[in-house]
Amino acid sequence: MGDPSPLSIDTIVSLAKRRGFIFPGSAIHGGLANSWDYGPLGVELKNNIKQLWWDRFVHRRDDIVGIDAALIMNPKVWEASGHLKEFSDPLVECKKCHERFRSDLIVLSAPCSSCGATGSFTEPRAFNMMLKTFLGPAEEKANEVFFRPETAQAMFVDFKQVLDTSRIRLPFGIAQIGKAFRNEITPGNFIFRTREFEQMEIEYFISEKEWEKWFEHWREEMHSWIASLGIQANRIHELEVPDGERAHYSRRTIDFEYDFPFGRKELYGLAYRTDFDLRNHFYEAPYKDPETNEAFYPHVIEPTWGVDRTVLAVLCDAYTEVEDRLVLKLPPSLVPYKAAVFPLLANKPQLVDFARKIYNALRKEFMVAWDDRGNIGKRYYSQDEIGTPYCVTVDFDSLEKEDATVRNRDSGEQIRLPVDRLAAHIRNSLRT
Ligand SMILES: [Zn+2]
Repeated sequence: MGDPSPLSIDTIVSLAKRRGFIFPGSAIHGGLANSWDYGPLGVELKNNIKQLWWDRFVHRRDDIVGIDAALIMNPKVWEASGHLKEFSDPLVECKKCHERFRSDLIVLSAPCSSCGATGSFTEPRAFNMMLKTFLGPAEEKANEVFFRPETAQAMFVDFKQVLDTSRIRLPFGIAQIGKAFRNEITPGNFIFRTREFEQMEIEYFISEKEWEKWFEHWREEMHSWIASLGIQANRIHELEVPDGERAHYSRRTIDFEYDFPFGRKELYGLAYRTDFDLRNHFYEAPYKDPETNEAFYPHVIEPTWGVDRTVLAVLCDAYTEVEDRLVLKLPPSLVPYKAAVFPLLANKPQLVDFARKIYNALRKEFMVAWDDRGNIGKRYYSQDEIGTPYCVTVDFDSLEKEDATVRNRDSGEQIRLPVDRLAAHIRNSLRT
């Protein structure tokens, strides 16, 4: 444990494809550059991550409420946010670190100021990164709209509607999970940088004088979230983004970087956005202090999480080779299957019936796999590869004793448990 991952990204891509976590998109029609589909196990892993996040930050807190806004918003939103203008500049992108620069503001023959690579910029392009489409039948300028390039703006635009319809008062947050689209110049590294991606974001509204306190609060929350994913802390690095390199609206930004197989890259971000956003959207101050009745523009702390990057980081972090076996050591809360149930022999109806009974009972509460193919060793191997924490096997003794053998993924240890205690055993492992 502890060393940067010796993994190659190809190993993860191939496991993801072979076991149905993530496939190339549109594959039978030649694929589509940079498009990936989550398969049966991938969608479970991704949903578990999103559910864990929503539960932790929305359900278990009384200062955060959620929204789910439209992907396509009025173009005036992007005018107010600065996206229409900002993203229309002539841009070049460093091919190595993907940092973008205004081509009119840098010397293209010089090393990249972000990573030091030389001569590795893309050709300059007047580039609006927003993905354009048309609403209605006529493809004309008046009908031009954009897929949102971030989820954040909906939380600003809906700020007053949330305030007016909930009893929530400062400090409070609005959370959202959803897709965003960016017409990236150079996407890549599997699901790390894609043109269609999913974000989990919170806009946390505060009074200006408390920003440092809440920034620290969210910094700690992000570390504790990372720990809940089972990601090794020594693979996470904070990067304080220096003056001049932050987004124009941010007074302080920390990137949380992870040691991916292709290098140390941004996983999450935390930014103090000041009152920039609400000022841009609201002509009048949208918040009144309930005691003093003074109207003002709240300031914003924004913690932001990439869903797809989280999937990639947990897959890389969980990937473990134990002798000749591959074990995906995901935390039980994230794994697609919480358990697998096997009859020791597939051709003995009593064993199959008893195992089926256990399988059907557990399935009422958990995602559970069934396997009766091949020998027991192969079934273990197959479940280890997808991270299933428990394999429950029914043998002839089970029929008499009403019990089953439970094998632990990480220790390989096997214990016999009465059938009526199996669910509790699995449930206990899910507590985070
Ligand atoms: Zn660079």
